[in-house]
Amino acid sequence: MQNELLRLLPSVDEVLRYEQVNEALDSHPRSVVVGAIREALAQERVSILSGNTMAAVEGGKPACLERIVFKTIAAVKSSARPYLRRVINATGVVLHTNLGRAPLAKQARQAVNDVVANYSNLELDLETGRRGSRYAPLEKLLTTLTGAEAALVVNNNAAAVLLALSTMARGQEVIVSRGQLVEIGGSFRIPEVMAQSGAQLVEVGATNKTYPDDYRRVINQNTALLLHVHTSNYRIVGFTREITVGELVEVGREYNLPVVSDLGSGFLIDLSRYGLPWEPTVQETVGAGTDIVTFSGDKLLGGAQAGIIIGKRTYIDRMKKNPLTRAIRIDKMTVAALEVTLRLYLDEEQALVEVPTLKMLTVPMSQLQQKASELAALLREVAGSRALVQLEESLSAVGGGAMPTAALPTAVVVIQPGKSSASELQEALRRGEPAVMGRVQEDKLLLDVRTIADGEFQLLAGAFAKALK
Ligand SMILES: *Cc1c(COP(=O)(O)O)cnc(C)c1O
Repeated sequence: MQNELLRLLPSVDEVLRYEQVNEALDSHPRSVVVGAIREALAQERVSILSGNTMAAVEGGKPACLERIVFKTIAAVKSSARPYLRRVINATGVVLHTNLGRAPLAKQARQAVNDVVANYSNLELDLETGRRGSRYAPLEKLLTTLTGAEAALVVNNNAAAVLLALSTMARGQEVIVSRGQLVEIGGSFRIPEVMAQSGAQLVEVGATNKTYPDDYRRVINQNTALLLHVHTSNYRIVGFTREITVGELVEVGREYNLPVVSDLGSGFLIDLSRYGLPWEPTVQETVGAGTDIVTFSGDKLLGGAQAGIIIGKRTYIDRMKKNPLTRAIRIDKMTVAALEVTLRLYLDEEQALVEVPTLKMLTVPMSQLQQKASELAALLREVAGSRALVQLEESLSAVGGGAMPTAALPTAVVVIQPGKSSASELQEALRRGEPAVMGRVQEDKLLLDVRTIADGEFQLLAGAFAKALK
């Protein structure tokens, strides 16, 4: 019986002659269509061999042609779509690492577009006609904005920390408080980055308490620097005493040792005026007398993925000469996006409106409520009697390893589907086009409007209509 069924399986050519499959050849490469047919046939073969009775014979043919055609078309369609694509973020997590962290300002997007579609002066000084530096425009803006002497930008903040340690402490000791041995996103851990840089980690203090004297006790001839790591994605609460950057700078001066601060997120604007928790700004950290400060370009700064290094010129100059810098250098898209994002910060009011991350974090509740009621009305119309759509208040998170304890009051659209569960609706939206990411709470689907752009409402409504079916 199995051999009989296998023998009756259609050939690739037979499937190709099927009308729907043949039509697919008009808009997809032949190799892709043939590959999809082979895959569908292979699955059918496995199914027959495992004794699946679904593959019964109908009129001398196994009743699987329809299924093979269906699978082929579905596979061809899905392979034509890039894997990486747009997602509507309805989670309310502003810096969602899985969803690409910070979206770019429109001015930055435009700059990237101009630079990638054409040639550019990436490494040419148009004034002199001589070779220029890709870092020059960023260095000027960063020193102006932060008050630091010099700046360098690399691929991400993990690379920035690695470069700083490898340049300033290879073969020597670096002292860090036990309360600051952070892990970020599962793959960046201070002890491991330290090992990679060739520096030796010296831990001091306890998880919850570290004092300046803890550093003084272990400083020796082989100490290269004192490292301060901002605990950007956790807080130790209760009986705690963490060393401040200022205290570390004092100890550093006593022993003539440089102080490096890994700020993690790094903000240029104090957002505590807008109801967010206070966090040290980049300017304050430079002002405290640190020698080197590093932070991400695509966390709260709201620019492109990058590791920004600012500080004393003598150290930055040494980093620029480190061969590692060439291996972790930024490309022209990053230069373009970051330059224009940083320019927006020259006018704080403008930055708060134009940098999406800042705008989403500071949007007033009244606007969120307004947005939520607009979205709810739209979704109610789409749902009809198929789902209950209501408004509620909830909390959004900053995300992306920043302000871990901040809970921002927000307005959400709450959906209870009539026929399916909230998780099923969540999955249908996630698999839809465009994909929509919401969160499920007590068998209801929550869509937080804080992270949904105004222009996305119609798209979301379309995706919602398809998901309800
Ligand atoms: C996020 C973070 C990093 C890593 O930055 P990436 O830009 O993601 O490489 C390093 N240190 C701290 C403290 C962070 O918060």
